[in-house]
Amino acid sequence: MSLGTFKSIKFYLTILIVGIFAACKNAEYVSSTIKTSEYKAINDRIAEMSLEEKVGQTCQITLDVILKTDEKGVPVSPAIVDTNKLNEAIFKYKVGSVLNVGSHTFTLEEWKGILKSVHAPYLAGKTKNPIIYGIDAIHGINYTVGATLFPQEIGLAATWNPNLAKEFGEITAYETRASGIPWNFSPVLDLGRQPLWSRTFETFGEDPYLASTMGAAIIDGYQGGKNPDKFHVASCMKHFVGYSGSLSGRDRTPAWIPEKYMKELYLPSFKKAVEHGALTVMINSGAVNGIPGHLNHKLITKTLKNNWGFEGFAVSDWEDFIMIHSVHRTAPTLSEAYIQAFNAGVDMSMVPLSPQYKEYCEIMIQAVKEGKISEERLNDAVRRILLVKSRVGLYSEPLPNQEQYTKFASQEFKNKSKEASLESITLLKNENNTLPLSPNQKVLVAGPTANNLIFLNGAWTHTWQGVDTTYNTKNCLNVREAFEKEIGKSNCLYAPGSELFLEKDFENTRFKNLDDYKQKVKMCDVVVLCLGELPSTEKPGDIRSLNLSNEQMELARIASAEEKKVILVLLEARPRIIHDIVDDANAIIQAYLPGDFGAEALVDLIYGKRNFSGKLPYTYPKYDGVIEFYDHPASVDRSKSGQFNAYDPEWDFGFGLNYSNVKYESLILNKNELIGKDSLEITVELSNNSKIPCKEVVQLYVSDDYASLIPNGKSLKGFQKIEIPANGSSKCKFYISKSDLKFVGKDGNFIVEDGFFTIRVGNLEKKFEYKNN
Ligand code: BGC
Repeated sequence: MSLGTFKSIKFYLTILIVGIFAACKNAEYVSSTIKTSEYKAINDRIAEMSLEEKVGQTCQITLDVILKTDEKGVPVSPAIVDTNKLNEAIFKYKVGSVLNVGSHTFTLEEWKGILKSVHAPYLAGKTKNPIIYGIDAIHGINYTVGATLFPQEIGLAATWNPNLAKEFGEITAYETRASGIPWNFSPVLDLGRQPLWSRTFETFGEDPYLASTMGAAIIDGYQGGKNPDKFHVASCMKHFVGYSGSLSGRDRTPAWIPEKYMKELYLPSFKKAVEHGALTVMINSGAVNGIPGHLNHKLITKTLKNNWGFEGFAVSDWEDFIMIHSVHRTAPTLSEAYIQAFNAGVDMSMVPLSPQYKEYCEIMIQAVKEGKISEERLNDAVRRILLVKSRVGLYSEPLPNQEQYTKFASQEFKNKSKEASLESITLLKNENNTLPLSPNQKVLVAGPTANNLIFLNGAWTHTWQGVDTTYNTKNCLNVREAFEKEIGKSNCLYAPGSELFLEKDFENTRFKNLDDYKQKVKMCDVVVLCLGELPSTEKPGDIRSLNLSNEQMELARIASAEEKKVILVLLEARPRIIHDIVDDANAIIQAYLPGDFGAEALVDLIYGKRNFSGKLPYTYPKYDGVIEFYDHPASVDRSKSGQFNAYDPEWDFGFGLNYSNVKYESLILNKNELIGKDSLEITVELSNNSKIPCKEVVQLYVSDDYASLIPNGKSLKGFQKIEIPANGSSKCKFYISKSDLKFVGKDGNFIVEDGFFTIRVGNLEKKFEYKNN
């Protein structure tokens, strides 16, 4: 071989290697599922953008930054945008996104004005890319006056009804669009496995299957597919991932989640959401296993984007790029922090204040110029952001005509919200058929949560913490009012007995007119005692103990000592320990945070106009120091071998009573052996031996009898909410296949082992054998 030939082979080989290397590098940033034409259109836009424009797209500011304020700096009312501030954000810093609401709920008119101003530069052709506006519409568009407010997510989970969850999503999307907003920071897909956590009510509870199913249904409702039209919005999966598992139970404190449990418990709800086309994701503010959520390249870029094929963009949580430096301290400078988070795969920074956002843009531009953030990575982030903007129709119609949303706050929507409350409220105890009540019984409605709507709605209601009563939805009833409406004021007494208040940032309770309470107890037949919590979320919702305070529990003891019928109604964001008064209560109802129509629903259930059908989406603990979950390993319960059972909750996950008498009659498997990819058909027959029709949540659990790593005692693998007529029966079918039997084995990967499995439905069980081949 001549030297010339050798040199040219070397030259072409080098080009080939460099080419392959570059392709591999970019492969990290290219989704295979996006249509070529859509991809091309976005790339064409990006090709025309300056560095400053690209960086601006990754910057999100809060509405306060651009609101007009008075001389004291307080936003004027009605809220309007300050054009100078807006122009500075849009023209100088090329900001791509705005979020939130200021300090309280706005009217539709105010939203219309705000969104019109925000989109004016784009509509006038002065910018090439429209702003994407995002908001926390957590249980309805809770920042728009008059909107339809549903039960909080934990209540939706308790319905075990994915159809209702989807309808909630559709209505919320519709009313969010009516407010001019195309992007909702919901649903929360974190698992509620730390009951102390202030945001337990924002989750679907403790189980990954329930959370995945309900989360996917809500996303279907929000988005109506991968291209939300003007009646749908982009969803945002929150908060990727492990945020809810903090060791201390305090908000935004570290979690330890071994990879096995990350894969088996915390990731599935997000994976399912991606399969349902979720367009955006918000990142966990906390740290897991020592890695701040925002720096977890393995989870954000490799798992979520590359392995699962997530096409949309990842937005940081509030100020979290800054927190990498100031709180997590993995970066000695702000600049380092931004580079770390962005390179880990977070595409948009909720900076969100001023002047911080300006500094953010400057730092990022510099980082790209210095090569600390590659052009490819920046383009990837921008491509993802523009894709979502395009998918929600912002380029063609940034602000659809708001007159067309005629169903906003309609009776139809309100009825659906009440239906969701009816199906969520869960009956936990009903000794000697205390319920339903008869309208002739004289009732004392009492307790600190009885007399205000805020206790039915919780946080994310008109204000962030939801405690301000000024903005309560008009014409919606609190518990006291709903009882007075039902049985008349003369038959219904009221006494708070105690009240909740904040003391040095922590919830506290004190007695309030206790003598009045004691006297009224003597005057009635039944005490409906409403206990619970002050609305709160995030840091302000931290508590020091799960125990309900003595000043609340004492009210039950007083009523029980007078031999009155005591009906405990829990209005709470998380399961607070009530063990000491369970025996004092004749009936116990978990109402969660049932929303604006929750009190009316509660009264319908208590008077037997409707039957209960809610089931607990979490294990209700009995003791403060013993937190357990239904899917604990088999080794926790050794009662079958005559030893201890270390699982001792107040009520089990999936538990809930009704007024009917349901029996699980038969459980039939179509075969005893399941091989390879085949599936097993399971038929369940139930009867209702009562005069009252009901809806029953049929829950299917599977356990692996023996496995190479300790198996769960049981895991939920299917559920159906079915109607059973009075004195009638119903059947339902489930299918189980290989993927329902998997677990994370010793090498960290999902495996399915040959062996025997047990299916459990109600009190029935059957075994089958699985063989891989
Ligand atoms: C919360 C998020 C929320 C964001 C925007 C944060 O503090 O953690 O859940 O979406 O604020 O309001």
